[in-house]
Amino acid sequence: MMIHAPFSDDVVVRLNGYQKFALAHPYTCPKCKSNLVAYHDGLRCDFAYEDVMSYRPCGYTQDWALDPPTEDDLKYMEIEFNAWKESKDATS
Ligand SMILES: [Zn+2]
Repeated sequence: MMIHAPFSDDVVVRLNGYQKFALAHPYTCPKCKSNLVAYHDGLRCDFAYEDVMSYRPCGYTQDWALDPPTEDDLKYMEIEFNAWKESKDATS
């Protein structure tokens, strides 16, 4: 199911949990490919282009998301994510 901003505190926390632990398909910026960050007013790209003269935030936002995982689902995702990260660290 699709949800639209403004997002509640609970939804912001769960969306950012999803962004942190999703092994596949976190929300990314179509312009610069950075992972988006959830805020009450939507998912936003916090990436900024920096050069000598200027600091230009990407600023992409989207005001919708798919219904984020529940807290219990997130706990499971975190366990899987940590297992994946450990196996990756062990081989590198
Ligand atoms: Zn961006």
